[in-house]
Amino acid sequence: MKGSSNMYYKLPTELYCERNCITSHADDICAHGKTAYIITGKHSSKANGSLNDVISVLENGHISYKVFDGICENPSIENIMEAVKEAPKKTDFVIGIGGGSPLDASKAVSLMLANPDKNEDLLYQKCDADYLPVVTVPTTCGTGSEITPYSILTIHRLCTKASLPHKIYPSLALIDPMYLDSAPDTVLKNTAVDALGHLIESYINTNATNISKMFCNHALSLWKAIPYILKNNIRTYEAYELLMMISAYAGMAISHTGTSLPHKISYSLTYEQEVPHGKAVGTFLSAYMRHADIYACNHILSLCGFSSVHMLADTINELCGHIEVPYSLAEKAVKDIAGDSSKSRNCPYPVNEEILWDIYKESVAII
Ligand code: NAP
Ligand code: ZN
Repeated sequence: MKGSSNMYYKLPTELYCERNCITSHADDICAHGKTAYIITGKHSSKANGSLNDVISVLENGHISYKVFDGICENPSIENIMEAVKEAPKKTDFVIGIGGGSPLDASKAVSLMLANPDKNEDLLYQKCDADYLPVVTVPTTCGTGSEITPYSILTIHRLCTKASLPHKIYPSLALIDPMYLDSAPDTVLKNTAVDALGHLIESYINTNATNISKMFCNHALSLWKAIPYILKNNIRTYEAYELLMMISAYAGMAISHTGTSLPHKISYSLTYEQEVPHGKAVGTFLSAYMRHADIYACNHILSLCGFSSVHMLADTINELCGHIEVPYSLAEKAVKDIAGDSSKSRNCPYPVNEEILWDIYKESVAII
């Protein structure tokens, strides 16, 4: 992170967002090499046509390929290594298709394939390591993983999720908003709230710069239209395009700043209670804002059309639903974050057990 400079900018990914995006950029995909390894989830990329679109482009371009369609939600290290084992002998590039889970998995797989002499320890080793080029095709509208350098995996040994220390920038991101047409309402709502979380956590962040705030300012003002779209189930190309663009802008913002406390607190809820990522993040947003600088908080609220943090919390609850957490899990999460300063280093205000309890109690029902 280059938090001390207001002009730091790095986004090496070429990104397009348009109808029929895959077919229109066939040459850009095929220019990546002779053998592709497609990394995707179990069902959705078949249902929404994204997998077929990519396969047609590869076949027309005489690029050989193999598909691994076994990526689970919140992929684990084991899931990644399973995909690595199945890779074609001479993979030139990796294509991730799906929500954040397959996209994050494709980055981790690209790292392992570029370092065939290393074992899974490489994933969380702090070192400079090469990775194969990655093409990303998102089919949800929240993580921004198509453009971010992050890959978040489940670590069963630690009963949580964590971002790899490696920065794996995709080389090409192809966004076709129509892939959202097959997404259930819950996926749209949870992932749109995840994008809002990225914008809020990037804005209220020790690494925020004028440039990262520029992405946030623009996308927060676009987010104003999202509650109406989601509550009224508006399923037009324009609505899908807006959702995808906000997600990508939010990805551009967190690529420069990282996320902050709500993401760190959310991971144990997702691990222990299988709360979907966006919903788990969204529940902590208003409390995170309430403890922050009042001007930043009001600025965010006015951009995305809320008169108070309570109105923002009510809207998120209406979209994603309430969460109940057993006391023992809340206590463990609070102690874990309070005891590891690296987990709160992006938060611009002091973080201690008292504040974390405040945030927890305000955000979920503790049972
Ligand atoms: P996801 O875990 O990728 O997918 C959730 C569910 O939605 C899956 O069942 C998936 O089905 C389905 N799905 C995906 N696209 C669909 C579509 N168009 N139509 C119908 N169903 C669809 O969800 P996500 O919220 O996008 O990603 C969450 C992951 O991203 C978490 O692991 C989180 O930590 C990570 N994340 C990464 C970043 C980053 O910067 N890299 C940022 C935030 C979050 P299939 O399994 O069949 O595909
Ligand atoms: Zn997120």
